[in-house]
Amino acid sequence: MVRYSEKLNEIKQTLASAGVFDPAFEAREILWEYAGCAAFPGSELPAEAIAAADSAVSRRVKGEPLQYIFGRWEFYGYPFYVGEGVLIPRPETELLVDIAAGLIGRGSVMLDLCSGTGCIPVSIALKTGAKCYAVELYDAAFSYLGRNIAMNGADVTAVQADACDGTLFGEMKFDLITSNPPYLTENEMCSLMREVAFEPETALAGGDDGLYFYRRIIPSWSVRLAEGGAFAVEIGETQGEAVAEIMRSAGLKPRIIKDYSGLDRVVLGSHDT
Ligand code: GLN
Repeated sequence: MVRYSEKLNEIKQTLASAGVFDPAFEAREILWEYAGCAAFPGSELPAEAIAAADSAVSRRVKGEPLQYIFGRWEFYGYPFYVGEGVLIPRPETELLVDIAAGLIGRGSVMLDLCSGTGCIPVSIALKTGAKCYAVELYDAAFSYLGRNIAMNGADVTAVQADACDGTLFGEMKFDLITSNPPYLTENEMCSLMREVAFEPETALAGGDDGLYFYRRIIPSWSVRLAEGGAFAVEIGETQGEAVAEIMRSAGLKPRIIKDYSGLDRVVLGSHDT
């Protein structure tokens, strides 16, 4: 008979010796995932829960992110399928959804570029009631995008295409354009955390200085903003000034916004009025 508290300690120690950053948190998450209601102190764990937890732990000690092992992760309070081939939604990206919520609402039309799981457009659609379009190029990510739109019942239309192609959607204009493109620099790509190295390079690498996609996406799409519309992109914490400059060159007035950890995280651009 194995009790929850014993198993929790055992998993915590195994994860700690494998160098996991927050072993206590992950041990609790693993038992909650596989033991459900039996995951409380004193409770006896069913054999299947133990087997499932052990198998998750053995994947986790090899470095695979917890999110891929579970196959789902929460973003902005909504569930998203995740797995090999798609970037795991990060909590700091929730800032984009908060910004969108202050800018658009029911009746607005928005576009998200490089959508991956779809965490940005799905959350914005659900939170604001706006009609959203989402563009993703890669097969694996595109399939997650479709599944996540369906699971959440969000009003998002997914298009498989290159986000740098500003001719998509004909003459359509957008009240808000968002993107969390790949933005890691070549140096950062060489020193990824073990877990991040499991994620697709195509979702992370933004060229030499990390700015490749901003240089292509911003000028291609700024002309597609509706009157009074805004462009909001997530950035790496050191990229604020450089991305602001790209926005200025595209005729937009930029504002750099910090995330909840106090780091530059979003550049918001709009046409001078
Ligand atoms: N924020 C991610 C990371 O630190 C990078 C995401 C991206 O490139 N858009 O790994």
